[in-house]
Amino acid sequence: MTQQTPATLPPLARRLRAHVAVAARSLSLGGHDDFNQGQVSARAPGADYMLIKGALKGFDECVPDDVIVAPVDPAVPSPALAPPELALHQAVYRARPDVNAIVHSHAPHTLVFGATDLALRAVSHEGAYFEGRLPRYTLTSNTILDIATGEQVADALGDNPAALLRNHGGVIVGKSIRHATVHAHTLERACRLQLMAEQLPGGYHSSSLEDVDGKRAFIYADLSVRSYWDHAVGQVQRRWPEAADWPSQAAREAA
Ligand SMILES: [Zn+2]
Repeated sequence: MTQQTPATLPPLARRLRAHVAVAARSLSLGGHDDFNQGQVSARAPGADYMLIKGALKGFDECVPDDVIVAPVDPAVPSPALAPPELALHQAVYRARPDVNAIVHSHAPHTLVFGATDLALRAVSHEGAYFEGRLPRYTLTSNTILDIATGEQVADALGDNPAALLRNHGGVIVGKSIRHATVHAHTLERACRLQLMAEQLPGGYHSSSLEDVDGKRAFIYADLSVRSYWDHAVGQVQRRWPEAADWPSQAAREAA
C-alpha cells in the first residue's frame, strides 16, 4: 500500500475526510452516539486505504483532523489511533469492491431489533428499503477485534445493504459516504417504527412487494439519497456552524 498520511492525501481524499467528519456529526444527531464507540469510514473508489473516525472521539465531537488514514489490508500495520473495530471495516471493504463507505454503530433501535428474531418488514418507507435484505450476525456479540471475526461479519452481510450484529448494533454499507450515512439513519428509523408497530394489539400491515420495489426505485434512488444527504449536511451545519468550512478547508489544504 502507498503509505498515506493526512499530509499526502490526494485532494479527493481530503474532501472525503471532511465528509466523514460531517457524517459522524449527522449520526450523532440521529441518535447513534455511544460514548466514543462506533465508526464511520469511507474510501475513494479503488483506494487501498480508508478514512475512518479515530478511536478516541465520539460521533458528536469528530472534526476532520480526527479522521485517520488506515490500510484496507489487515497485514499492513495500522496507525496508533485506529479504532479497535478497524478489522470489521477492512473485512467488508475487501469482500465488497462496490462498497465505499461503512457505518458501524450501537444505535438503540437497531441494536434492540437485532436482539430479536423479528424479520424487518416494510412497515414504513425505511422498512421497504431493508425488507428481505437485512441478515443478522449471531456468532458473537462482542466487539469485532480481529480480521477472522470481521470476515464472519462480511460473510453474514453478503451482498446486502446492512446487517444486524446481535446484541451489539448494526453495520450499514453504501457505494458512497452519502449512501452509508443516509441508510444508517434509515435503518434506525425502520427498526424504531417496526418495534412500535409490534407493540400494538391487532398486528399491522406492511407494504406490498410492488410498493417495496416502487419505493426502492424512487424514494431511495441515488438522486433522492443525495437530497437526504444534503439535508443532513444542513442539519449538521445549523447545529455546528463551523462544519460549513470543513470541505473548503480541505480544498485549501490540498491546493
Ligand atoms: Zn461495536
